[in-house]
Amino acid sequence: MDIDQSLHWADQAARKVVQSWGKKKEYVCAAGITPSGTVHIGNFREMITVDLVVRALRGLKHNVRSVYSWDDFDVFRKVPANMPNQDLLNKFLRHPITEVPDTLGCHKSYAEHNEKEVEDVLPKVGIQPEFLYQHKKYQRGDYAEEIKHVLAGKEKIKAILDKFRAESHPEGWIPLSVYCEKCRTDNTKITGYDGSYAITYSCACGHSGNMDFRKNALVKLPWRIDWPMRWHFEKVDFEPGGKEHSTEGGSYTTAKEIVKEIFGREPPVYHKYDFIIIKGKGGKMSSSKGNVITLKEALAVYEPEIVRYLFASTRPDTEFAISFDLDVLKVYEDYDRCERIYFKKESVSEKDFEKQKRIYELSQVSEPSAHLPFQPSIKHLLNLIQLYGGDEKKILDDLKGSLKTKVDTAKVKARLECAKYWLEHYAPEDMKFHFHSRQEAGHVQLSGKEKDCLKKIAEFLKDNQKVGEEEIHNQLYEIAKASGIEPKDFFRSAYRFFIGKERGPKLANLILTVGKEKALDVLSSL
Ligand SMILES: [Zn+2]
Repeated sequence: MDIDQSLHWADQAARKVVQSWGKKKEYVCAAGITPSGTVHIGNFREMITVDLVVRALRGLKHNVRSVYSWDDFDVFRKVPANMPNQDLLNKFLRHPITEVPDTLGCHKSYAEHNEKEVEDVLPKVGIQPEFLYQHKKYQRGDYAEEIKHVLAGKEKIKAILDKFRAESHPEGWIPLSVYCEKCRTDNTKITGYDGSYAITYSCACGHSGNMDFRKNALVKLPWRIDWPMRWHFEKVDFEPGGKEHSTEGGSYTTAKEIVKEIFGREPPVYHKYDFIIIKGKGGKMSSSKGNVITLKEALAVYEPEIVRYLFASTRPDTEFAISFDLDVLKVYEDYDRCERIYFKKESVSEKDFEKQKRIYELSQVSEPSAHLPFQPSIKHLLNLIQLYGGDEKKILDDLKGSLKTKVDTAKVKARLECAKYWLEHYAPEDMKFHFHSRQEAGHVQLSGKEKDCLKKIAEFLKDNQKVGEEEIHNQLYEIAKASGIEPKDFFRSAYRFFIGKERGPKLANLILTVGKEKALDVLSSL
């Protein structure tokens, strides 16, 4: 099936963009975030929602300009709890966030710190938009004509905004905020406007001055006007918006009216995106509380393609959870299945094939490889890591029979890093183990019956060199039952014998992972 018939939401949105705007040399897709705190995975949903539509448009052979605005001329309203030197930060409340110091000491400003953290990691998931810095654009006077236009139409804007407000804006309202040239805060009041480009203002600090918003302009439009102004300025054809902007009477409702009424332009095609829940980390994510999951953290646990997959396989307007608990393993398995379906190594209905194929394509950072790459099972890797104490060389050596190409090796290495990180930071205790040496196993206290059972396992393994996981698993049950021991009690003692704990990864798989030889060596201590 071609993209022009695909049912994937990103393809549908791309087709809607083309239908709505007609044929254009270039479509503009936009996103934007205020870097007023650590930019988290919930914010990333905006970036990837745009990226998926950009990909879909490019798939339809259109040129696309993807712009990403940092709303970094916004005012610093609240000091986030995760930043050091709270006292210093408190002194910068009401300043533009680009003029707040980076108390972590690595960037020119607080805003830049939050921006660079994202800009540095985005290319890893294949997202490379053109970044626009609002503090530069405002100060340079890029928006001077638009601001003049807004001020000329302020009564119309007031009428639109007041429809959705309990309390109307006051008479003589001027929709522009000013940062004082002297104290740099926005505790200011506009005292005059010449109808062209110049305003006069007074500040709570005692300073009063004038400003021309064509140069060195310390002015900013309020968000509800800034947004539609930029749709007009950048000629935006598609932009998603968060749930909080999408409610009736929310900023999208008013922006739609303002862009038509003031700028005579249709609003961009819009897609609402919902919140993201973090599973296995605890607590609601909040920038101001500082307990956020960043894209970087998600990439420590998930391969880049799998991070994309999480979003490509979910409609933006549904809430979903990103897991850091045991479900991580299931996500890996789901992605691998999607990959097998794409390469026609697992058959599904035609409809499901089309769906999975498109999700897989959109999940790739670069072009999909020509053949199904080796799929190292995440559970198996977790066992290998623990068996070889995390030694990459030994693990690769163990897997060398499966590694046919450079792609295979690269894939194992990438997955290995994620598996190690997850094991160290998120894995539940019962996933962790250390496989006993013969000496260590020899010290485990067991009853005669338990010893007999384990000896029978040894015999079985010796006699059946080529046996697989399922057969070993069945045999463990058979041996327990035949000896009159409850299988769960027997498993408990077997775990104690092999790894010194009462629970662990699937026993049959564990035996195969360590290898029958090593298992037999340990069993010989009986
Ligand atoms: Zn001042």
